Amino acid sequence: MLVVMQSHATEEQVREVCRKIEALGLRPHPIPGAQRTAIGITGNQGALEAGSLEEMPGVGEVIRVSKPYKLVSRDLKPDNTVVRFPNSHVSIGGKDVVVMAGPCSIESREQALTVAEQVAAAGAHFLRGGAYKPRTSPYSFQGLGEEGLKIMAEARERFGLLIVTEAVDNESLDLVEEYADMIQIGARNMQNFSLLKRAGRARKPVLLKRGMSATLEEFLMAAEYVMSEGNYNVVLCERGVRTFADHTRNTLDLSLIPAVQRLSHLPILVDPSHGTGKRNKVLPMARAAVAVGADGLIVEVHHDPDHALSDGPQSIVPEQFAVLMSEIAQIAAVLHRGVIAPVHSSTAIARETLRPAVAR
Ligand code: PEP
Ligand code: MN
Repeated sequence: MLVVMQSHATEEQVREVCRKIEALGLRPHPIPGAQRTAIGITGNQGALEAGSLEEMPGVGEVIRVSKPYKLVSRDLKPDNTVVRFPNSHVSIGGKDVVVMAGPCSIESREQALTVAEQVAAAGAHFLRGGAYKPRTSPYSFQGLGEEGLKIMAEARERFGLLIVTEAVDNESLDLVEEYADMIQIGARNMQNFSLLKRAGRARKPVLLKRGMSATLEEFLMAAEYVMSEGNYNVVLCERGVRTFADHTRNTLDLSLIPAVQRLSHLPILVDPSHGTGKRNKVLPMARAAVAVGADGLIVEVHHDPDHALSDGPQSIVPEQFAVLMSEIAQIAAVLHRGVIAPVHSSTAIARETLRPAVAR
């Protein structure tokens, strides 16, 4: 059920409707939109009687939502969600395209700061990098844990990059929430429902990656889990699905982007690195992702990919990343979009200060 307030409804009228919904033992989710506020209602197992809500002052209409997802749906919010970050000009889901870049794993302070410096110089907005790695083999590098988060926080200080990093369980989510600007939920955890609920109680935006064999509906229902707990700052990410094709690691499903945009107001990014698994395919698929209308990219970049502790074969080098940034800006322009301004206009100064700190 969804209560659409009239465009001139007052804040007090919105609050009054929310109180009424609570009194019915349900949870209200007021979502302001460009034209009007809509209030999603969750907690009802079956159909709800609309009558008493419909008559309240300020209420436009009460709509029964037939889809299994409610809060992620465009029925609730016709205009696109824009996720903003405190003290930053960077946002996700607005007119311009956002770029997250960095190594698969944070391997050492030197490695992370070197890559961070170079992606910032090329115009990236976020540093990506795993401190907690969900690896297929228990004998593979598992990440530096909190030490990795501290290194990322240092990179933010030096280069002005925002930080996005994965939480693999509730314990790591506590720490990721403390250090990072955005909490990544990986493909392997897309249906880890207790983790999704915990992310829904976090105070930071969530980057939710599509599970390796998740349908569009399963993907949106995972986002619904996060939103149903009260965190409305969710960004989706297509990262490829498992198919019979073996020329790539995964099959990057770019048709998901317009399909999601039709059904949901949430922003969606594309990960051409995990989506292909091959360095030589990252740039073409990054171009295609922007052309298809994605709100941004998350890309693995490593200055020495042959010695990377994870995902070296799909990591591009900083010089290729700089080409990617310039090419996607040209493609975005065709769609009357741009790439968000770089986070650090004076990266040259940061580079000067970094030199003595990091031995090369
Ligand atoms: C990653 O971003 O490094 C990662 C593990 O991605 P995914 O969850 O999409 O496999
Ligand atoms: Mn990776």
